[in-house]
Amino acid sequence: MFLIGLSGQAQKSRYWQQHVDYTMEIDMDASKFQFDGTQKLVYSNNSPDELNEVFYLLQFNAFQPGSEMDIRLQNVIDPDSRMVNNHGTLIQPDYESRISILKPEEIGYQKIISLRQDGKNVKYEIYGSVMKVSLNKPIKPGSKTTFEMEFKGQVPVQIRRAGRNNSEGVALSMAQWYPKLAEYDEEGWHANAYLSREFHGVWGDFDVTIKIDREYTIGGTGYLQNPQEVGHGYENPNKSLKLPKGDKLTWHFKAPDVHDFTWAADPDYVHTQVTGENGVQLHFFYKNDPELKENWEKLPGKTQEILAYFNKHIGPYPYKQYSVIQGGDGGMEYAMCTLITGKRTFSSLVGVTAHEFAHSWFQFVLATNETKHSWMDEGFTSYISSHCMNSVMEEGKSIPNKHSYTNYAKLVKSGLQEPLTTFSDRYELNGVYGTSAYSKGSIFLSQLGYVIGRANLDRTLKTYYEQFKFKHPTPNDFTRVAEKVSGIQLEWYLNYWTRTIKFIDYSVSLTDKNSIKLERLGSMAMPIDLTVTYTDGSTEDFYIPLTMMYGTKPTGAKILESWSWVAPSYTLNTEKEIQRVQVDPSELMADIDPRNNTASIK
Ligand SMILES: [Zn+2]
Repeated sequence: MFLIGLSGQAQKSRYWQQHVDYTMEIDMDASKFQFDGTQKLVYSNNSPDELNEVFYLLQFNAFQPGSEMDIRLQNVIDPDSRMVNNHGTLIQPDYESRISILKPEEIGYQKIISLRQDGKNVKYEIYGSVMKVSLNKPIKPGSKTTFEMEFKGQVPVQIRRAGRNNSEGVALSMAQWYPKLAEYDEEGWHANAYLSREFHGVWGDFDVTIKIDREYTIGGTGYLQNPQEVGHGYENPNKSLKLPKGDKLTWHFKAPDVHDFTWAADPDYVHTQVTGENGVQLHFFYKNDPELKENWEKLPGKTQEILAYFNKHIGPYPYKQYSVIQGGDGGMEYAMCTLITGKRTFSSLVGVTAHEFAHSWFQFVLATNETKHSWMDEGFTSYISSHCMNSVMEEGKSIPNKHSYTNYAKLVKSGLQEPLTTFSDRYELNGVYGTSAYSKGSIFLSQLGYVIGRANLDRTLKTYYEQFKFKHPTPNDFTRVAEKVSGIQLEWYLNYWTRTIKFIDYSVSLTDKNSIKLERLGSMAMPIDLTVTYTDGSTEDFYIPLTMMYGTKPTGAKILESWSWVAPSYTLNTEKEIQRVQVDPSELMADIDPRNNTASIK
């Protein structure tokens, strides 16, 4: 029989991802903060779908009065303090959006001068920071098309992440600066307006040429192809420089297998380098300011240790360079680089470097969709960077992400919690986004260590990286790895922790000298570790698995009958007389009220 393919019939597809190859040439006028650009984009449609439209992101357009970013900023109760002026007091604030007062010569923009698909002009509509292109001819599954664009850009006054003349005087922080193709995957287009949260992108190879006034030093994504024609600390000192004549230098970078390209430039950068594990070149760029020198001279040694820590605990860093660059605001992770503010104490400088560098593994190489699953990026990054700091700075903390537990418990008690499935831009409050993505996301891992055992958690992280690097994993992908590594069913954990706002609260009491009663007061069920101290001074550890785990973690404790979530209480009898009992002595379970986790005889 001949089977006719039914068009439009849903079918479960195997994993695929789109591919982009960018070739861009940029001519920067540093005095006007404006640039002209050309972009050739070869787009491979590896999806099973015929595409009739594509979306670009024009993120500099967000920095204009009346943009969605501006309006959101004017209406959210707790705006990012970096993005507003406060004309009131701390208690009675009167915020003014810094975007709302930008003058035409201070705004950001990306203006499309021309756009062609395979040599023919193509129609497009711009919706602020998103551009929809209606194609002349559809892109068939398994085929490529070439877009050629001419564009002009203006670098906005620095408001958030990118921009000119940041608070520490760095001239150009060039993130979100080029028209960028949006990601298309099995969920369709991810054409999200830029409101200030983070990103999702398409992997590919970038070839970027930047012409800029010759006194500027550039740091950023990729590998410089012409160091002898540029100098600025990139050159081989054993070979002679071949600097061209003229006002500008031409910098040629190539970056394979990245989903973004970022750079920063300043005429006063000090550029230092050191080689890290596996020959990875570590670059540092900071303003030539005596106040910064001491800390930034000590940073490279710590960055080598940070790289080695993540290589060991997640997996090998796959690129040949990483650049720590003073620029932007706070700290933000990009391909092979980070932009961080640099006027910090040494531990803060190392801390921000550890955090942003950790993002290279989670945001860059794994690259979950941060718009939808910000907790998998910020949370996992916070978890591993707090452990890294504990090691490289010898902090001696028993729970390196303890502050995450404190923040999370406060959020639960505030009643403002929203599930982690909330789109990162769409939390009602910025503060709730922050505690959710960073703290609750970090606890997802440390508490998983409580559920499946620390050794299984460590193996899960490494297996996850090995199996899903360069694949945009989803929450379920991670959870499946943890299930396979531990032999424990975990759908319940993913569901409770990320798709609901249910929380954990257990209480324990002694009903007589040989009997313990546990009660589940919170709406989220967990397995229970219990330590009992007897009146004779001896102690005994018990472990009560949650029934729906259908398994137990490796433990030296006495394993008791499992406890189903449907039962609100559990009774346990001991032979010896009880002095004291404690639920979860590790404190890795995020019980929001630990006061009722211990009981003693009166
Ligand atoms: Zn982060």
